[in-house]
Amino acid sequence: MALVLKTPDEIAVMREAGRIVAKAHIAMKEALRPGISTGELDKIAETVIRDHGAIPAFLNYPKKDAPNYPGTINASINNELVHGLPSDKRIIKEGDIVSLDTGCIYQGFVGDGAYTYAVGEVPATVLRLMQVTEEALHKGIEASVLPNTIKDVALTIQRFVESHGYSVAREYTGHGVGRSMHEEPEMPNYWSRIAERRGRKNQPLQVGMTYAIEPMVIAGRSDLLELDDHWTVVTKDGSLCAHFEHTIAVTDGKPIILTLP
Ligand code: MG
Repeated sequence: MALVLKTPDEIAVMREAGRIVAKAHIAMKEALRPGISTGELDKIAETVIRDHGAIPAFLNYPKKDAPNYPGTINASINNELVHGLPSDKRIIKEGDIVSLDTGCIYQGFVGDGAYTYAVGEVPATVLRLMQVTEEALHKGIEASVLPNTIKDVALTIQRFVESHGYSVAREYTGHGVGRSMHEEPEMPNYWSRIAERRGRKNQPLQVGMTYAIEPMVIAGRSDLLELDDHWTVVTKDGSLCAHFEHTIAVTDGKPIILTLP
């Protein structure tokens, strides 16, 4: 898969795709309360996306040896890291933390973004996990400037997260976003010599690169399991985790956050 740099006109369309993603998130945030199901949140996001002339990017997303993705959002609760399947039977409770991830395709371009919310009262330690994850995302965005490399962005996120005593998920990374939801470059949240030996390649950032940065931060160990539904990823030790994501564009100055309202 080759790296595709975007023109300013293409980035302008991606900004509109990202704006729709942001609107879907705002609608879900307003509806989020104890007693709502993740299936209801899914319908809210789908309605916003379609009402803006866009298509849900996650719906029917293919995966090897698994059923296509059945929803518009990932709704991952507490120790679920990512890819939680939305369901009318899955009811959100007081004290849960809920990671909502959604994406859309607008005029052929994708936007992708995620937030983690506390539902009602949660302990200060849980709020801190969420704050550190969101800050890690913004550190990664700030590092997305020339002449930095992918490795610089990854290490910025990893060092920040680990300095707070948390782990970053290693099996899941951010990714290039454009006409497809997952393209070059891979945007990891950590860097290691082992990963380099296994083929992880560093490269300089370039004007016109568009990618999603999405730190997934775990309060405990970083070992993960995939559930029998083929999609939901949970922490093996049951520890809580948080996930924040923006799609951004690299420029010759500050990066543009595409998934803001
Ligand atoms: Mg993503």
